[in-house]
Amino acid sequence: MVRKGELYAQCRELIAQRDEDSADFEIKCIFQDILGEKFPMFAPKELVPDDKAAEILSVSKRRSEGYPLQYLLGQWEFWGCNFKVGEGVLIPRPDTETLVEQVLDICRKEKLTDPKIADLCSGSGCIAVALKKELPKAEVYAVELSEKALYYLRQNTELNGCGDIKIISGDVLKSETARQITGLDVLVSNPPYLTFQDMSELMIEVRYEPESALFGGEDGLDFYRAVTELWKASIKDGGFIAYEFGFGQHDAVKDILEKNGFTNVELRRDGADIIRTAAAVNN
Ligand code: GLN
Repeated sequence: MVRKGELYAQCRELIAQRDEDSADFEIKCIFQDILGEKFPMFAPKELVPDDKAAEILSVSKRRSEGYPLQYLLGQWEFWGCNFKVGEGVLIPRPDTETLVEQVLDICRKEKLTDPKIADLCSGSGCIAVALKKELPKAEVYAVELSEKALYYLRQNTELNGCGDIKIISGDVLKSETARQITGLDVLVSNPPYLTFQDMSELMIEVRYEPESALFGGEDGLDFYRAVTELWKASIKDGGFIAYEFGFGQHDAVKDILEKNGFTNVELRRDGADIIRTAAAVNN
């Protein structure tokens, strides 16, 4: 049997090869997941059972090779809620909290206490769940195409006590899907937006995530063009649309919104000071 302190040091060395800055945090997550301990450095002389030590070592090795920590843990935090994740579903990112905040600010300002909201390309369901948590009286729809993502979406709505989110299995690029939901106060989406170029330069971790959740066509804007046009009729007059997008895409997204008759485009920066979201009014 190996002592906890030695195992910690061994795993730290492995993970630091991949990411020195987050190595301590990541090992704590792994120890917590496998040993159920929040503070692995307590009692460093304690012995770790062989099977647990082997598991910790193998997970750390996998992580050092670039496999995403979030998939190894099988869960990740977003908006203070826990989301199950695994291959086939996009990992919730903190940038996306900016989109949630923007929608909540709109609802507050417009006094929408029981808005009808649709989250397109819902994935893990992190946006839909965060909004439902904050606006319990809202009628929330989550639309997703991928069967693998739907598996997580269904679990995540249930596990977070949001079982009344209406899950729609369908393609947001098809008019028959758009016709299923009408009279929306808010349409929100974090669609795939990476460009052809971005896809060729993905970090190792992101390569394990589903291409269908990342790739938005040659210039990354396919979904904004199609969704804005297709779903406009599903949004009430005076209702809102809110999008997340990638670095440098704000002018193009604003343009698409305005060409489709949306006004008062409000852009927002994320925590890394990148213009990350846009909201506009349907006129
Ligand atoms: N934010 C993701 C990334 O940069 C992309 C997600 C998306 O395309 N919606 O990897």
